[in-house]
Amino acid sequence: MREGSIDAPIRHPIDWQSDNFSDPKALFEELKRVFDICNGCRRCFNLCGTFPKLFDLIDETPTGDINEVDEDKFWEVIDNCYLCDICFKTKCPYVPPHEFNVDFPHLMLRAKALKHKQKKVSLRDKILSNPETLGSFAGIPIIAQTVNAFNKTKLGGLVSEKALGIDRNAPKPKFYSQTARKELKHYVNEPSLSNDDTAQKSVVLFATCYGNRNDPQVVKDTVVCFEKNNVPIVLTKTEKCCGMPKLELGDIDSVAKAKD
Ligand code: SF4
Ligand code: SF4
Repeated sequence: MREGSIDAPIRHPIDWQSDNFSDPKALFEELKRVFDICNGCRRCFNLCGTFPKLFDLIDETPTGDINEVDEDKFWEVIDNCYLCDICFKTKCPYVPPHEFNVDFPHLMLRAKALKHKQKKVSLRDKILSNPETLGSFAGIPIIAQTVNAFNKTKLGGLVSEKALGIDRNAPKPKFYSQTARKELKHYVNEPSLSNDDTAQKSVVLFATCYGNRNDPQVVKDTVVCFEKNNVPIVLTKTEKCCGMPKLELGDIDSVAKAKD
């Protein structure tokens, strides 16, 4: 067996519609198998909160064995992963085609999907994973100013902590009724699809839910940067949420629906 793979990584499709994918027993066996490999490796100790949590749980057991960790505590590891993919893409020598077949982010997604299926998702996560709905409501003129002012008060912090479990001191995003896409509506156009190399190509700017409703200045500044460098820019006629907040919640059905 090779210590680590030197082949190009392979990404297996996520078998999310199979029975095995959401079978708790099969999932926890796979979690233990992969966590055990990670315990012996520990290369990802400083990437995010996921791995330190995992290694602390193992180190707290008398013999440092993943089998001694209470399975319920695995959720503390899983909840820390936000599916950025860095461990797979930049660190792990055991990704397929290596026989260890470690795809840590896909395994976290599988666990999150089970949690979502078992309806163990908090109200906070349900609300925050709907940035389009949240932004279109909180961005209504007058409501936006009211929400922004309330969020700055001590009472606002207390309410968000008690009702949603958001730390009272956590900075809250500001909501704008004058969104980036409204301000840049004169950029809405069809991108040039010409194959002619000499034709002027445009960059299609995806404002994102956050950029559009919570930080429009970033989007406007991006347009200025491109134009300063003589790169034409367009916005598409409509824009939808990329689905990442739903994916992070394990709500794969909603992501599939949004794609269609
Ligand atoms: S995919 Fe998850 S576990 Fe891997 S580096 Fe990103 S947050 Fe950490
Ligand atoms: S994901 Fe790969 S590189 Fe990271 S700790 Fe686990 S086995 Fe090691």
